[in-house]
Amino acid sequence: MTKRVAKTLTAKVLRKQYLYNKLVTDKRRAIFQARRQRALEVSNMVEGGWSQFHIEATKWRKLPKKFSAWDIANDDGWTVAHEAAMSWVLPDDFPFWGLADNHGVIVGHVAARQGTLPFDFNQWAIANEAGWSIAHEAAKYGNLPMDFELWDLADNRGRAVAHSAARSGHLPPDFNQWALADYAGWTVAHEAALHGNLPDYFNQWALADVYEETVADVLAHYNLKGEDKAMIVVSQSAKLLVHLNAEQMYALIEAAGRVCYQSPMSTNPDAQEKFIRGLIGRGHHSVLEHGVLGFKFVTDRGVMAELTRHRLASFSVESTRYCRYEDPDSFKVICPFELASPEYNSWLDAMNNSKKAYDAFLKAGVPPQIARSVLPQCFATTIYMTANVREWRHVFALRTSSAAHPQMRELMGLALAQARDRYPVLFDDL
Ligand SMILES: Cc1cc2nc3c(=O)[nH]c(=O)nc-3n(C[C@H](O)[C@H](O)[C@H](O)COP(=O)(O)OP(=O)(O)OC[C@H]3O[C@@H](n4cnc5c(N)ncnc54)[C@H](O)[C@@H]3O)c2cc1C
Repeated sequence: MTKRVAKTLTAKVLRKQYLYNKLVTDKRRAIFQARRQRALEVSNMVEGGWSQFHIEATKWRKLPKKFSAWDIANDDGWTVAHEAAMSWVLPDDFPFWGLADNHGVIVGHVAARQGTLPFDFNQWAIANEAGWSIAHEAAKYGNLPMDFELWDLADNRGRAVAHSAARSGHLPPDFNQWALADYAGWTVAHEAALHGNLPDYFNQWALADVYEETVADVLAHYNLKGEDKAMIVVSQSAKLLVHLNAEQMYALIEAAGRVCYQSPMSTNPDAQEKFIRGLIGRGHHSVLEHGVLGFKFVTDRGVMAELTRHRLASFSVESTRYCRYEDPDSFKVICPFELASPEYNSWLDAMNNSKKAYDAFLKAGVPPQIARSVLPQCFATTIYMTANVREWRHVFALRTSSAAHPQMRELMGLALAQARDRYPVLFDDL
C-alpha cells in the first residue's frame, strides 16, 4: 500500500517536472522567435539588405544580448555572422561556421582569412559547396596553427589544403608531402613551382600530372626558376612596431586625463581602466592624442593611396622613383582578393608583361622614375604609418567598415587585431 502511494507520488512529481520543463522550453522558444522576428523587421527596413546588426556586428558589444539572428543577410548573402567574423573571435561552439554568402564564402572562411579563429579551433573540415574548407582558407593566408596536420584534406576537385598553402607560400619549412595530388594529378610541388614557392632543398623535379607535365616543366613554362624567376606574389601584412607597453600607455593617458580634473592617479588597474573607458565614452578624445603607435604595412599601391589620405598620420613610403625592381626578388605584387583560376592566370600573365616592359625600359637606360609608369596598381609597397590613438580609432572605424575596399578591410583588420591585443582598453570597443 505504502509502496503504491510512493509510486503514484513519484509519477505525479515526474509529470509536474515534465510540464514545468515544457513550459520553460516553450517560453524560451517564444522569446527566441520574438527576438528573431524583431531583428528581421529592423533588418528589412534597411536598403540593400544591410541591417543595423551588420553595423553593430563590427562593434560586437553593441549587438543585443543573446543575439540570435546571425543569418540576416544583405543582398550579397553576407550575413551578420560574416560581418562579426571580420573583426572578432567568435566562440568555439559558434553554430554558424558553415553559413555561406552568395559567392560561397562561409563564416569560417572570413575568420580564417582575418586570423580571428578561436585559439584551439578544430572544425577545419567545414567547407562551402565546392569543398573549400576553413583549413584551405587559413592556409591561403598563413593562419594555420604550427601543429596543423590535415594537409591532405581535399576540396571537390581534389585540391588539398597543402595546395592552398603552396600557392600562397605558407607551407611549413619542413614540409615533405610534395606528391599530394588533385584529380588531374597536379601535385603540391606543381602548385608551389607555379607560384615561385619551392624551397631550396626541393629535388622531386620529375613528379608529373596526368598530362605528363613535370614540376620542372612548370618552372620552365612560367619562367619562375632561380635567376629567371620573374617576380614574387606576396600577401598583405601589418606589423605593430615596438611602442609603449600597455601599462606605460595607459599610465600616460591617465596622467594626461587626470590633469584636466586634478584627480589623483589610480592605485589599481581596474580604476585606471574605468577612467580611460570613461574618457572614451564621454568623447573626451583629445587625451588619447598623447598615445602614439605605428605599423609597418605591406600592401599594394591602390590601398597605399587610400591610406595616405589620412592627414593626421605620418608616413614613410617606398619610392618607385628611386628604387629599382629589376631583381625578381624585389618585383613583388599583391594578388587581388578572391581571384580564382582562370582569372588568376590572366592576372599572372599581365604581371609578367608588366615586368618585361619594366626590365626593357631599364635596359634601354630609362630611369626608374620614368619606367615605373608600367608598374601595376597591385605592385607591393612597404609603408610605415604612425599616428596617435585618437586618429587610429578614426582610421580603424572608417577602414574596417563594410563600405571600405576589401583589401583595405583585410589590412586594417590585421592591424586592429594587434592594436586590440596590445591595448584592449583603447581599442576593444571598435
Ligand atoms: C568608404 C570610403 C570611400 C571613399 N571614397 C572616396 C572617393 O571616392 N574619393 C575621394 O577623393 N576620397 C574618398 N575617400 C577618402 C575620404 O574622402 C577621406 O579623404 C579619407 O577617408 C580620410 O578621412 P578623414 O578626412 O576623415 O581623415 P583624416 O585625414 O585622418 O582626418 C581625421 C579627422 O580630422 C579632422 N580633420 C582633418 N583635416 C581637417 C580639415 N582640413 N578640416 C576639418 N577637419 C579636419 C576630421 O574630423 C577628420 O575626420 C573614401 C573614404 C572611405 C572610407
